Amino acid sequence: MLPPLPVLAPIITAETRLAYVLRHFREAYTNVPAVSIGYEEAQVRIADGAGQFFEQTHPYPSAPAYRDYRGQRLPFFFDAAPENSLLELLPAGRAIIHADIVAAAFYLLSGWQEFFSEERDRHGRFPYAASVQHRYGFVTVPVVNYYFDVLKTAVEHVSGQALTPKGWAGAPFAAFVTHDIDNLHSAWKQPAKQALKAGHLLGFSRQLWQHLTRPDAWDNLARVQQTVAGYGAKSTFFFLPEHRPGANGTPNADYAVAKAWPRIAAAIGNSEVGLHGSIGRAREGSNLKAEQHRMQDCTRGPVDGIRFHYLGWEPRVTPFILDTLLFAYDSTLGFAEHYGFRNSYCRPFHPFNFAAGKPCTFLEIPLNVMDATLYHPNYLQLAPDKVLPALRPMFEEIERFGGVCTVLWHNENFDPANQHNGPQQFHALMEYLRSRRAAFVNGTDICVTMS
Ligand SMILES: [Zn+2]
Repeated sequence: MLPPLPVLAPIITAETRLAYVLRHFREAYTNVPAVSIGYEEAQVRIADGAGQFFEQTHPYPSAPAYRDYRGQRLPFFFDAAPENSLLELLPAGRAIIHADIVAAAFYLLSGWQEFFSEERDRHGRFPYAASVQHRYGFVTVPVVNYYFDVLKTAVEHVSGQALTPKGWAGAPFAAFVTHDIDNLHSAWKQPAKQALKAGHLLGFSRQLWQHLTRPDAWDNLARVQQTVAGYGAKSTFFFLPEHRPGANGTPNADYAVAKAWPRIAAAIGNSEVGLHGSIGRAREGSNLKAEQHRMQDCTRGPVDGIRFHYLGWEPRVTPFILDTLLFAYDSTLGFAEHYGFRNSYCRPFHPFNFAAGKPCTFLEIPLNVMDATLYHPNYLQLAPDKVLPALRPMFEEIERFGGVCTVLWHNENFDPANQHNGPQQFHALMEYLRSRRAAFVNGTDICVTMS
């Protein structure tokens, strides 16, 4: 059951859309000069191409026009006159952008398509297959950053001032390395089950004996923390304070967080801790609040960040819940089915609160790649040595725009038994990020930089 659309949703005027987009533009570059940007007479004039689109509730605009920009073929939604040049630089400090990049940026950044779409998958999520990113094949291209680059060129022409991306203490981009902790005790189960099924009683007994006498291969948080620290990086751990399965039978944690906390705390040192909201909680404010309190009882301090288990997210209610519970940041918004950019943007941003007609307060640090996406019966099945080559173009885009590369690698996948999306693939990815001089940050660092 999908929550209904707000009955009296505020009309999202051109002014609201422009303010929302320009706020993000100003957050993306340092010292943006006071240049007038707008649809009417302005130093940078944008051609209005949205028509009546934002006055109705349809999830998808007309097909985009394609334009070549800086060697890339890019989709431009709301492009009413694709025969005109994209950017017209005029004398006397004026410029015209002939595609409505403000409407297009608003459409993608705000999350319009998922808010108005009725499509959800069996986990209640907006499916990648229903997205414009999938339909037009641009999930690994942060097109909103390209739109901003067009605007930046116009502003530079008008002001005579060069803009630089807001930075990460001199590093070209940042990397946010995270771990969702679903399981600590279950590494033995799958091989034991397999042995039993195949009638290998000896194999089964061996697994059971190991389980009873040795630490589980997934009880490895100290190793996870040390591995990441070995790259000069920081881990952020999202813990799941619910061990009963969700209402639909989907498993939550295989550990009880309060009981396990003394051992967990010793293993992760002073790493950042966030909440891993359990199944169904993306739609249930009061239950999520209880989970937030359970985590805070463990950490004895604020828990500012969240990511939902199974990347649960209901666009019509989750943003509102996160603002009500005063989370500083979320890092759920990626597609489980494909790595890339769910909102076509590679920097942290504020999703749009459609019920209130204004930006959300919490910061979304979009998730770019989850280990499970790379090798899973329902997602991709990349060969072990094809993981880094597949991700590299996406990393290059993030670096080009000084963005944040958010990686989710579950502790389970630090188990050397995993040859597909395991420690070797993680190492390849971390080597790469280090070689490109990424600033390794956690969620709190990102919130400080963005504030
Ligand atoms: Zn999870």
